[in-house]
Amino acid sequence: MKTPTTVIDAGHGGHDSGALGPGGSKEKDIALNVSKRVHAILIEAGVRSILTRDSDVFLGLTERAEIANRAVADLFVSIHCNAGGGTGFEVYTSRGETTSDRAATLVFEEFGSANPGSIRRVDLTDGDVDKEAGYAVLVRTSGPAILFELEFIDTDAGESLLNDAAFQERSATAIAAGVLRFLGVELPVSPLPVIPRRNDMLRWTPAEKAIHAALDAVEEVGADPLLTEAVTLLSNAQNKVADYVDADLLSQ
Ligand SMILES: [Zn+2]
Repeated sequence: MKTPTTVIDAGHGGHDSGALGPGGSKEKDIALNVSKRVHAILIEAGVRSILTRDSDVFLGLTERAEIANRAVADLFVSIHCNAGGGTGFEVYTSRGETTSDRAATLVFEEFGSANPGSIRRVDLTDGDVDKEAGYAVLVRTSGPAILFELEFIDTDAGESLLNDAAFQERSATAIAAGVLRFLGVELPVSPLPVIPRRNDMLRWTPAEKAIHAALDAVEEVGADPLLTEAVTLLSNAQNKVADYVDADLLSQ
């Protein structure tokens, strides 16, 4: 059997920043972060994944589609941030019923489950959730292709969500999970993330001691998707506590 092949396309790049957030965030940077993570998860799962760009460079739309065509990609996924007033996520395919619609639905459902607080922007008129448009990267790719809009960057709330590392991570994981379901590939159990520990034990607050004890316990049990999530939450808590400790020391 041929190794399943994907092309992950981080929207915009180089002189083309894409949409901008009120705080100055650039669509091209967030799209690149999430795309690289999706790509890494797919590689880990044994997929032959290709990034159209892995740095801040400009690529034309035709060039992006041609990368997918040359690779005979089983799925092309373009990742973007939305703008123009609104909230929530949406997915696009080219017009008409194609296998892209199935890919779009699977990725959309995974993303929705991972981000239950986000608004699902759907077009149900043709019986599925994806919206349809004649975007160049969707029309010029010869295989299945979808374009995913993570969230609106041009609102304060959307911008801060898009910049949240935990949002980027769970979004990338969800998109990869949808892609793997489309390809019929099993999602591997993710390894536990490496959590930086604070070495200055003498300065630990009771809260921080508890968090470190919990991290130790989780690490002993081993890798599991739920535990990975727990470790991420604990790590965020640890960083918050560390910030408070530092602020407290500074004020003395
Ligand atoms: Zn865009």
